[in-house]
Amino acid sequence: MGSSQRKLLIVGGGSSGLGTALAAARRGWKVVLFEARDIGGGTSTTSTKLIHGGVRYLESAITTFRWSDWKLVREALRERKWMLESHPILCRPLPIIVPVESLGQKLYYGIGLKLYDFLSYPYRLAPTEWIPKEQFYEKFPTAKQGFIGGWLYWDGSFEDRLYAVHLALYLRQKFGVEIRPYHEVKEVEVTRGEVRVHVQPQGGGPYVEAGDFLVNATGPWADILRRKVRPHAKPRLRVSRGSHLVLRGLFPLSTGFLIPRTADGRVIFVLPWKENTWLLGTTDEEASQPEWNPAVPPAEEAYLLDYFRRYFTQEGEVSARFAGYRPLVAADAHGTTARLARNHVVEVWREERTINLLGGKWTTFRAMGEDVLRALYRYMLSEPMPEGEKVEKIVPDFSEKEALEAQYPQRILSDEPFTEGEVRFWRRIRWAHQPVDIVEGRWQLHLIDEKRAARLKSALEMQWDQLKEP
Ligand SMILES: Cc1cc2nc3c(=O)[nH]c(=O)nc-3n(C[C@H](O)[C@H](O)[C@H](O)COP(=O)(O)OP(=O)(O)OC[C@H]3O[C@@H](n4cnc5c(N)ncnc54)[C@H](O)[C@@H]3O)c2cc1C
Repeated sequence: MGSSQRKLLIVGGGSSGLGTALAAARRGWKVVLFEARDIGGGTSTTSTKLIHGGVRYLESAITTFRWSDWKLVREALRERKWMLESHPILCRPLPIIVPVESLGQKLYYGIGLKLYDFLSYPYRLAPTEWIPKEQFYEKFPTAKQGFIGGWLYWDGSFEDRLYAVHLALYLRQKFGVEIRPYHEVKEVEVTRGEVRVHVQPQGGGPYVEAGDFLVNATGPWADILRRKVRPHAKPRLRVSRGSHLVLRGLFPLSTGFLIPRTADGRVIFVLPWKENTWLLGTTDEEASQPEWNPAVPPAEEAYLLDYFRRYFTQEGEVSARFAGYRPLVAADAHGTTARLARNHVVEVWREERTINLLGGKWTTFRAMGEDVLRALYRYMLSEPMPEGEKVEKIVPDFSEKEALEAQYPQRILSDEPFTEGEVRFWRRIRWAHQPVDIVEGRWQLHLIDEKRAARLKSALEMQWDQLKEP
């Protein structure tokens, strides 16, 4: 059997599933990806939007000497560079400042961040530098008094949901990957030589799709699918909820700000976000079950605002809030989730022709996909993994969308820039099943301003039937 005939079924259209699709498609596999809802609408839209090695994981690596933490930071720093170059419109380098109150802190954070620079070699973005007090307050005029300056280091930031959608479109255009949003995998059946999934599409009849292998890339829901494959499998994941707030009415921010230590050993980021808002997050609360689109609990909102007030004199208004679940691979049943390693695990079930991709982070999504393919070749096929076609940019071709936008320039609401043409495009390719997919999934308005999102959603609901494309 030639590799071009091999068929991979992937369940989950978040960063893990898309990373796996990229790794397989560039090696000539036929790939079908099932997503129960909208592309990138799960955990992959609720991240802190950082493309980073993780200064927090570096600190953990230093204090625990855990090799897996060092590996994670180093791998993520390499992937950070690739991601920034893969879509320069949605991903950009971001300077972040660590505020410093004493000489002891200056030394501690300075050594840590220089080490971060060192580890990123040869993928460094720009050197870490000391920002003296005067410049520090020029950058953050509403920061509380008492800082002697700050360390400025570089990471990246990106629009996570749009990146997932653009990557999916790129995979479809370039490699013919079949992406099927709103197709939920209900059951998995393994027969001799193939694996079959029972799929329920939204608004359609159920069907069965067969392939050579299955990849479970369902993020925080991975244990549910694992049990459909192996009913008695022990759960591997613990999930932790992370909440964010979006603040508006503050000065435009160009540099991020790291609150380096909370009383319970976390870090909180204050980052520039779309339309001059500020993104504040995150919490880290162990949860029993992942929910879809969870609300931000009032206690977590209060916690974030409390820390914000400790560092800034001006508060702004909370215009949006969002939460998601980190899928964390539990080493044991004890310990806080903040301390669980954020590495991914590739679990190979040879007999079931299934690979479970567990945990991980957005920044390493491509490397995670490569690890799945490496395991597939090694343990399932007993062959060396071919190099595959190089992929450096994942920017899709939007000429069809642009043509529709030119043909239908009418706005959905006169005071919002969004046009009928764009709605028609996503409906034409069957990637928008309801107004929320456009308002949240393409315009990301719920992550900027909940009231504007609600207003646009109801306007779009009224026009939905007229905006249907053949
Ligand atoms: C609060 C928070 C902050 C974070 N910040 C960062 C950050 O700044 N930088 C970073 O690199 N990483 C960050 N991460 C980590 C990163 O966001 C996640 O690791 C990553 O998005 C997980 O992607 P995933 O594809 O595994 O899961 P998901 O995005 O949740 O995708 C899984 C998909 O599977 C689908 N699915 C489930 N069951 C089925 C089924 N039966 N059939 C079909 N589809 C199904 C779901 O609908 C879902 O869309 C953060 C995570 C959280 C929670």
